[in-house]
Formats: sequence, C-alpha cells, structure tokens
Amino acid sequence: MLYKKFLLCFFCFCLCFTIAFSYVALRHFVNSGDTVESICRIYQLPQSVFLDWNQSDSSIRLTPGMVVTIPFPSGFVYRVSEGNSLSWISCAFFSDLNTIASANGLKFPYTLRIGQEIFVPYAEVGRKFFNEPDKLLWPVYGEISSLYGNRIHPITGLKSFHAGLDIAAPEGTPIFASASGTVTMAGENGGYGIMIEIESATQKYRYGHLSALCVMVGQRVKRGDVIGRIGSTGDSTGPHLHFEVRNQKNQTLDPLSQLPNIKNIYPKH
Ligand SMILES: [Zn+2]
Repeated sequence: MLYKKFLLCFFCFCLCFTIAFSYVALRHFVNSGDTVESICRIYQLPQSVFLDWNQSDSSIRLTPGMVVTIPFPSGFVYRVSEGNSLSWISCAFFSDLNTIASANGLKFPYTLRIGQEIFVPYAEVGRKFFNEPDKLLWPVYGEISSLYGNRIHPITGLKSFHAGLDIAAPEGTPIFASASGTVTMAGENGGYGIMIEIESATQKYRYGHLSALCVMVGQRVKRGDVIGRIGSTGDSTGPHLHFEVRNQKNQTLDPLSQLPNIKNIYPKH
C-alpha cells in the first residue's frame, strides 16, 4: 500500500515537474582535470550552450569544487524585456514560434511578462536562417542603426569613419557567427567593450559591445553558432552589435556588401 502511495506521489511529482518546467538546471561539481570540452562531452552539450550558462564577460576558469549549470534539455534562456512578443523571440533565435510556445507550455495569445524566462531548445535555434551560401549570415535579428562609412560620431559629435555596421537589438538577444572560423579574441577591448574576433581563412570578423560571451579563445566556431549576447559595453549609446569585417591586410570592408539582401534576412512573422 505504501509502495503504491509512493508511486502515485512520484507520478504526480513528475507530472507537475513536466508541466511547470520547460527545462531542468542540473548542477555539476567540477573535478580536477575537468575542462569545458570534457564536461560538454559528458552531458552531450554544445559548447556555446555551456558557455552561455556559465560564462559572463570574461573567460571561464574551472576550479575543483566549483559548481556549473547544465541545462537539460540543451537550450538557451531569453529573459523578456519591454515590447518583446513571443513572435519576436522566435525570430531572434531564428526559430519556430509554435515550437517555442509548446516548449514553454504557452497558449495563444502568448501573454508575456517582463523578466519572464523563455526557454529555446537548442535543436530549434537557427532553423529559419536565411542562408545564401556565398554570403555571410546576418549575425543578429535587429534594426540597422548605423551604416559603414563616414558619419557623425554618436558620442563625440565629430565627423568620423565608422568601420562596421551597427545593428540595434534588446540586451540579451543572441548573436550568431556570420562565418565559420577560429576565435582569436574574446573579452574587453577598449571602445569595442566586450568583443569577439573570429578569423576565417580569408577574413576577420569583429562583434562588439556584447553583454556576454558564449565562446573561448582558440575555439573553432561554425557559421550560425551562438557566440554571445547583445549588450552596450564600451563606447555605446544603447544595446547594439557593432559588426566589422576585415580582409587579410586588416582593412575594414562594408559588411552590407557581403550580407544577403536586407529584405530577406528575417523569417516571415
Ligand atoms: Zn559601430
């Protein structure tokens, strides 16, 4: 009888757990010899997901006894900010609205509150990229706020040359690798704020003003991997991505000349 009661309670607990949570945050105690790669292997977790959960604005240092978080299933969390709809969040992750709604137990009309956590399963991220094989991938879902070329600097008010393309998006919006390559820089870099530099065989790409990093120096990243989150660090007047393309002579190029047409970048709402 006691056994049956236990089974019933356990069943109810599992049911509640399933309904209430879209993911479970497991804890892993770091052992000596653990590396980011070895922990990711144990839990079959993509490195970008592990680093998104456990790294902030500087490189992660694993020390024995330290506790790291392992999300199950694998995925990213987005915290709702003012004006965000579920439709917008699904676009920001280039994912499918209905899949995100069901992953979070949300029913139409999907009313969200500021600060609410929306879980985006890893398997769904990037499924709706507009992918032109000969072009770069748009690194973020947002609005172009400043073009490459001469402009009046938003902070100094002086004429200056803008070496990249600015794309405005809310803090925490995921940033994707526009091209595959090796991470050569990840951290604070003066006016760029928290910055990532990724080097491919022919070009370098800089992603500036981030709030968080999902990559480490030396890591190989694939086109479309999540590499960080939008922020406003360094010389910045609001949350945006400064996206820069450099050739082998370290000369900057206009990113718009290598990106797909702006009319096609986002999935249909
Ligand atoms: Zn810029």
